[in-house]
Amino acid sequence: MSKHKRPLNWIITEKECHEIINCKLNNSQYPRIIYKGMVMNISRAIWDQVYGPIPPRLYVLHSCDNKKCINPEHLFLGTQEDNMNDMIRKGRHRTRPANRCGENSGTAKLKNEDVLFIRKHYKLYNYNHSNKFQLALKFNVSKSCITQIVTHTRWKHI
Ligand SMILES: [Zn+2]
Repeated sequence: MSKHKRPLNWIITEKECHEIINCKLNNSQYPRIIYKGMVMNISRAIWDQVYGPIPPRLYVLHSCDNKKCINPEHLFLGTQEDNMNDMIRKGRHRTRPANRCGENSGTAKLKNEDVLFIRKHYKLYNYNHSNKFQLALKFNVSKSCITQIVTHTRWKHI
């Protein structure tokens, strides 16, 4: 980030959000900037800058729910559907993820193909922390569960 020259200014909040304080907002209250000649939400520009190009049809979402936050650690990629689900989840019932991480036949809810998907997807996005959050949301498991899967601590037989 330090290499990136720009006139933007932000404050760091208690929750470690990097909250933009001198940026114009769009109608949905998201900060927007001109980046590579296009007007876009700043979170997309940050993602592009830090992690590389955003795959088609994916959105940059906030794990912290702070629209003005540009901390790359708080950003993750998702579809429009994830975006909606995420808003619903945050708005209505912010519950702890169910314990679906067990691999014993009685309690296991993740399928073998889910485990394979998680490992492949995690690798694809260069093992970044935000991606772990995204996967945890997608499969409704904890982030530590994702860690255990991608480090082969659990589901070793796959
Ligand atoms: Zn944040």
